[in-house]
Amino acid sequence: MNYSVLSNFTYGMYAVGVKDGNKVSAAIVTCVSQISGVKPCKIAINLNSDSYSCECIKKEKIFTLAVLSENTPGSVIGALGLVSGRNTDKLKNIRHKVLQEGVPVIKENTCCWTLCKVTDELTADDQTIFIAEIVAGSEKSVGTPMTYAYYRDVLGGSAPVDSPVYIKPNPSVDGFGGEAFICTICGYVYNDPNFGFEELPKNWVCPVCGATKTAFVRN
Ligand code: FE
Repeated sequence: MNYSVLSNFTYGMYAVGVKDGNKVSAAIVTCVSQISGVKPCKIAINLNSDSYSCECIKKEKIFTLAVLSENTPGSVIGALGLVSGRNTDKLKNIRHKVLQEGVPVIKENTCCWTLCKVTDELTADDQTIFIAEIVAGSEKSVGTPMTYAYYRDVLGGSAPVDSPVYIKPNPSVDGFGGEAFICTICGYVYNDPNFGFEELPKNWVCPVCGATKTAFVRN
């Protein structure tokens, strides 16, 4: 089987807000599904078990989920995505509000949000799946939800390597011949044969996540 056909599965783009005591953090998740319509509705999300956000949810049993819109800046996805929140304040430059329950809600052109309390969790390989009930959330939704396909095909983004939806580029298939550079934050690949990466000005930034040239490595 060719595992790249799995990229035809549909995924969303969500910002999950977490807390660790008095500290707040967030991450981007792609795998979210509603699993029950019985009130309170239940959803399932999964995160890499080694991630700081996963650790926070395991400990605190609470998180928020904001649906990113097509207008959410790529720089927000970059800031909340691959970088670990363990030693950095991911929310420093991200618009958010902290709920009474102590968890942050990301408000960067997001469509809507929910507050979720974990009822069950299970481990599958390197991922932890959380089942949670929705206890509060938006009264209405604004904008068009961003799908993972939109992020990948329109914005040119990619999933971090520890994401369940990450697919390693194949150099022989994708035509990368050593001239391509990949953004280590968001996975964007710069591969313009007419204008080499080294020729780009020093202040050039990743068009998807806003990372500087130093975040790029030869693919
Ligand atoms: Fe990037």
